[in-house]
Amino acid sequence: MTNIRTILQRAARDLNISGSPSPRLDAELLLMHFLKIDRLHLCTHPERELTEEEAAAFMQRVERRSLGEPVAYILGEKEFWSLRFEVGREVLIPRPETECLIEELLRFYRPPGEGLRILDIGTGSGAIGVVLARELPAARVGATDISAAALSVARRNALVHGVADRMDFFQGDLLTAVSGNFDIICSNPPYIPDVQYGLLPVGIRDFEPRGALIAGPDGMDFHGRIIREGVHRLKSGGRIFLEIGEGQRDRVEALFREVGGYRDIDCRKDYGGTDRVASARKDN
Ligand code: SAM
Ligand code: GLN
Repeated sequence: MTNIRTILQRAARDLNISGSPSPRLDAELLLMHFLKIDRLHLCTHPERELTEEEAAAFMQRVERRSLGEPVAYILGEKEFWSLRFEVGREVLIPRPETECLIEELLRFYRPPGEGLRILDIGTGSGAIGVVLARELPAARVGATDISAAALSVARRNALVHGVADRMDFFQGDLLTAVSGNFDIICSNPPYIPDVQYGLLPVGIRDFEPRGALIAGPDGMDFHGRIIREGVHRLKSGGRIFLEIGEGQRDRVEALFREVGGYRDIDCRKDYGGTDRVASARKDN
């Protein structure tokens, strides 16, 4: 028999040896989720006993984390915009930086967003599209992805968060499966330059979908295509919001100018001070 205190110590020690940057936190998150208890319970009941079977099953999860798997995949969920999103190996784990794209967009559009047509390109888990559908409860939100498996996850997240009736899902390459024009086009597309893929942390490179990450020699293949195709699919005065990676601001702004038909080209930083959300408005 073992109890919460001892098994946490064991798990944190194993995770520390395996090189996790946050061994104790990882161990606590895995255990809270496994035992379906909150932090208060974890802290106030260190003597609670685990059965042999519970201990073994929990340590199997710790082992997965030791091999580099992100905690979110082991738990099968990740919090984004204070909502719980189902995630699995078929989708990128939503990142906190992506909340900046939503914040930036919501500076321009007030709830309930009556009559707005929004498109989230490369929706993955559905994180952006689902949050927008909740924040703008009268808007209609389209979500596209090339991956059918990702779209299944996004659909389930839309259902769980009560917005499935105002969302439409399309499988296809960027805008190809979607018809009509939009007030807002937004995307967190893949943006890792091909050559940097091998240098990514193990948790990303070996566990997250490659097709969600790499984007050509300078990581801007998708931005270029979305900006070019988007200008034909935005209503006049409509806006486009694109997440970008470090060092991509100048190029993305140049793309908006080269393609033409856009004004109010702008970029906002994330809370780490990195340029993160490029936006522009379609000319009238
Ligand atoms: N929007 C999600 C988020 O912010 O967490 C996922 C973003 S992930 C960086 C990029 C997504 O684009 C992946 O789900 C990937 O499957 C999708 N994708 C890649 N190539 C695509 C294409 N040609 N057309 C549509 N979606 C694509
Ligand atoms: N921000 C992701 C990372 O951690 C990349 C996401 C993307 O390519 N859109 O590497």
